[in-house]
Amino acid sequence: MKALRIDKEPHYQCQLVDVDEATFNTDLSTEGDVWVDVAYSSINYKDGLAITGKSPVVRKPTLIPGIDFVGQVCKSEHPRWQVGDAVILNGWGVGEVHSGGLAQQARVKGDWLIAKPAGITPKQAMAIGTAGYTAMLCVMALQTHGVRPDAGEILVTGASGGVGSVAVALLAQAGYRVVAATGKENEHAYLTQLGAAEIMPRQSLSEPGKPLQKERWAGVVDSVGSHTLANACASARYGAVVAACGLAQGMDFPATVAPFILRGVTLCGVDSVMAPLALREAAWGRLAESLATDWLEALTTVVPLAGAIDTATAILKGQVRGRVVVDVNA
Ligand code: NDP
Repeated sequence: MKALRIDKEPHYQCQLVDVDEATFNTDLSTEGDVWVDVAYSSINYKDGLAITGKSPVVRKPTLIPGIDFVGQVCKSEHPRWQVGDAVILNGWGVGEVHSGGLAQQARVKGDWLIAKPAGITPKQAMAIGTAGYTAMLCVMALQTHGVRPDAGEILVTGASGGVGSVAVALLAQAGYRVVAATGKENEHAYLTQLGAAEIMPRQSLSEPGKPLQKERWAGVVDSVGSHTLANACASARYGAVVAACGLAQGMDFPATVAPFILRGVTLCGVDSVMAPLALREAAWGRLAESLATDWLEALTTVVPLAGAIDTATAILKGQVRGRVVVDVNA
């Protein structure tokens, strides 16, 4: 079968290779009790880090990257899964500590899989992928904390990226007024098409700012971190909710406690990797319901397995729009 393979020695590299069954099962950190014929994987920011080696995401000497995939079970030693079941995987250290989805087959623990909702096609499942499922977790975090559409404007940062694009579409569809912050002037029409009511330049958020600024946001979905997150918190309204899930600008958080102690702002951390099963299933169920309109098509590009390496480089440069699905059999 064809797979991308990362080797850290003698120097870090990722290449498209043919892998035989013995190597797959013994040498590539593929421990698990379910084997899946992968249909699609996708390229998330973390895949970019893993494939290029820019950050130490991969913690084994060699493995197959890909933090998510959708496919059909072809062999199972797990009581919950039978041959033929359609399954989705997100996270759990797959593509970091365990081999992942950028291959024609994957072997993982059955406890990590969820059933693909019937209303979602395999391609749609990876058009959503980890980025889209994380966007839904962010939307659910806002809603769990009481942010309703009539509460006010919602800021989405990194808006043209994977998490951002899906967040814009989901929030707009749910009736929120979405303000999309982007660094890409040529993507304004795209973001408007997804449902953004207003676009703002990301530069207005990415420089150091005052601890408290004019109150504007009832909610924020931030996939950027650093000064952007600090400024989003500083300009959040009294009682606002900020869902933080990413670090595209940086892992630092150069903020003060002022928004939290003077305006009662809530900062919600959102993690998709180790999220409990019930939360994953709820998020994917909500995603399946939200596909009644065809916003997903507008934000999706499909590349073959060999194209995943170039896409990984592009995503780290902020050059990818929306979501990139990888057809591992093309
Ligand atoms: P993308 O690269 O698709 O999107 C990131 C977007 O951030 C870019 O498109 C760009 O949008 C913006 N951006 C890039 N560089 C900068 C910068 N230097 N300063 C400000 N904005 C920048 O990545 P994903 O959407 O896949 O992931 C986004 C982030 O979320 C990543 O950090 C990723 O690790 C994290 N993430 C976290 C998860 C979790 O479980 N917590 C799960 C999934 C992702 P624009 O040009 O429109 O401004």
